[in-house]
Amino acid sequence: MSTKRDYYEILGVSKGATPEEIKKAYRKVAIQFHPDKNPGNKEAEEKFKEAAEAYEVLSDAEKRAQYDRFGHSRPGSGGFSGHNMNMDDIFSQFGDIFGGGSPFDSFFGGGGSTRGGRRQRKGSNLRIKLKLSLDEIANGVEKKIKVNRLVRAEGVTFKTCPTCQGTGQIRKVVNTMLGQMVSATTCSSCDGSGQIVDKKPSGVDNSGLVSKEEIISVKIPAGVADGMQLSMSGKGNDAPGGGVPGDLLILIEEQEDKHLKRDGNNLVYDLYISFVDAALGTTVEVPSVGARVKIKIEPGTQSGKVLRLRGKGLKDINGYETGDQLIYVNVWTPKKLTAEEKAKLESFRNSPNFEPNPDANEKSFFERMKEFFN
Ligand SMILES: [Zn+2]
Repeated sequence: MSTKRDYYEILGVSKGATPEEIKKAYRKVAIQFHPDKNPGNKEAEEKFKEAAEAYEVLSDAEKRAQYDRFGHSRPGSGGFSGHNMNMDDIFSQFGDIFGGGSPFDSFFGGGGSTRGGRRQRKGSNLRIKLKLSLDEIANGVEKKIKVNRLVRAEGVTFKTCPTCQGTGQIRKVVNTMLGQMVSATTCSSCDGSGQIVDKKPSGVDNSGLVSKEEIISVKIPAGVADGMQLSMSGKGNDAPGGGVPGDLLILIEEQEDKHLKRDGNNLVYDLYISFVDAALGTTVEVPSVGARVKIKIEPGTQSGKVLRLRGKGLKDINGYETGDQLIYVNVWTPKKLTAEEKAKLESFRNSPNFEPNPDANEKSFFERMKEFFN
């Protein structure tokens, strides 16, 4: 509670202000920070709510007396902020203060933002694409990237904007049905920053910026995916006329691996074995991230069997989980045979062991798929 601002200070009135003065002060602040006039401005919305809360307390004689005695920490309750006012509450309060109806439109017709203070200008963002191999994605990598940034040119100095005297705003007095109101618009000479370029070397334009090649080191975490965008704040272009630099946005592109296909955090490998190996069993080597792995093929392995190498997939970028490598077994049927091979195979044609005979334990392709996607 102690971090809350003083209610009198919020409305800009003295402790001895009359109810009329408080009402008038609130109306002024509320109009200034009204969301209709400051669309999307969170700060204005907070100020608007803050003022509504201050008015709610100070406009009530009993609450005001308690506030005067105890400040924000009213005894025996959660303090004055106990009920969080929502916008509807505040608007019904507006009804009281302005006499109901929807009078704002006529107040706010004048246009222009009346936010207080100078606007912090932000430079534009830089976008680059970064191609990564599967190995780099699996292990994370540090890349040095060459970028052309717009930076403040050497020898550029700034001076206070003469148009707005450094306030970033142009104020003018407008007459409304409530009396005179001060309306403020962003200064177009300095775009609200309050500063303009004073001295600049030749070849530098009025933004005071020049393009400069820079090498930026970027740490890519393990587990990124194609289409992800990483952001490095402050590594974009400098702001013209002072302010904070923009961000460097890095779009990840995944280089397709020759052997391993990615399915989320799992890696999929298509293994082809001969039907002799499928029937007799064997040991084969398969590629995996950063190494080759030996796996055993059991005698009597069927085509379509899926073997799982646990934890041999990709690390999840957000968690501790690691995917698996899945090996899809494909039994290769020979497409060409010599006369001798044909004769040998022909001799097995009527052998009962060569008759397809799937038992109950043999899962169909469809059932296996279901298992893996559960
Ligand atoms: Zn200006």
